[in-house]
Order: sequence, then structure tokens, then C-alpha cells
Amino acid sequence: MATIIAFDLDDTLYKERDFVESGRNTVAEAIAAATGIEAATLRRVMAEGADAFDALLAYLGDMGFTGYTIADLLDIYRNHKPDITLDPVAEETLAELRRRSIDIALITDGRSTTQRNKIEALGLYRYFAPGRIYISGETGADKHTPLAYMNVANTAPSPRRLVYAGDNPAKDFVNANLAGWTTVMLRDSRGVNIHSQNLNDVAGIYRPRIVIDRLTEILKLIH
Ligand SMILES: [Mg+2]
Repeated sequence: MATIIAFDLDDTLYKERDFVESGRNTVAEAIAAATGIEAATLRRVMAEGADAFDALLAYLGDMGFTGYTIADLLDIYRNHKPDITLDPVAEETLAELRRRSIDIALITDGRSTTQRNKIEALGLYRYFAPGRIYISGETGADKHTPLAYMNVANTAPSPRRLVYAGDNPAKDFVNANLAGWTTVMLRDSRGVNIHSQNLNDVAGIYRPRIVIDRLTEILKLIH
């Protein structure tokens, strides 16, 4: 039976916390270059604020730099080339899937430029074919809708097994579950994920069928 495994990107193939840090570093460097304030100071202001960019704008205002807006900071953050690396276990898993000629896809929510910069930085074009990358900012439909899952399923021969591996029970698994996929949640062993994984917070249809602690465990699903 053919198996297609679709992966989430953020907090499944790398830690999104690293992207956040990379983005804030880039913002700090850009503002430092324009104002002469030390980048390290700007990083600390963001780290200590309840909201990083609100705190940074308030600090810049106090320092007499009143011309910046949230939109300026978000523009730098969302369009920067991130300094992030593929999780080694994710790399091991993708390499093994390629070795076994298993069809894989990427289903991720976010802006096109932001997600594509991440995909490039992580070297994921080596593993995912261009036509197998589904980004909500490009398709117009995020994971609260069935579209991306349907697009993957429509390319799959029958009989087949469809698998979605993600991290976020608020949206990763519901439409895959409804379509009969095998849903797999990669548990956050280090407690650094952006989104909660408390399965008691969500209704049953939102929960993954399988929970794993290491992405390579997904290989056991292939027969
Ligand atoms: Mg995710």
C-alpha cells in the first residue's frame, strides 16, 4: 500500500523558537545600524518585554527615535533570511524516507515569503518537490480548512495511507482526521514549542491518533 507522509514545518522539522530569535536579532541589527544603539541592548529590551516589539517601540521612543512603527518591525521580521537549521532527527527521518522512495509533502501555514525563507534556510528543497509544498499564504487556505489535505490526497494512488505529522492540536490534525488520515503529533520534549500541546484543551476530533517523541518513529507506520 502506498504511503504519503505530509509534514508540518514550524515546531515539527525545526524549533520555531529559533526563528523568533533569528528574527529579533535581525530587527535589533537593523535598528542598531540606523540609530547607533547597541544591538545587544535592543535584543535585551525585546527579551524582557511582555510583547517584544511593543517594548522595543517604547524604548526607541524613550531614546528619541519616534519614527518607527510595528509595521516596520514586522516587515523586517517576516522578510528576513532566518538563521535556522533542520532538526537532526528530522533530517535523519527525511533522508530515510527518501532512501525508501516514500512520497512526502509539506503543509504549512504562514506568509509565502516567510515560509519560503525558512524552507530555503533549512535546505528542505532537497527533500520536498516544488509541487508538494503547500503554504497557506499561497493557496489562500490554512489548516482550519481541508484544502491542503485534499490536494495531497488527490495525488495519491489507491489503496493508500495518508499521514500528517505536526505539533499543534489547535489546527494540525482536525481536517486530516476528518479525511481519515493517520495523524501524528511530535511531542515537545524540551518544552520550547510556541503552541500548547495540551490535548485536554481540544475536542476529540482535534487530537492526533498517535503521539511520538522522536520523528523517526514515523518510519514504523510504513509497511
Ligand atoms: Mg507547527
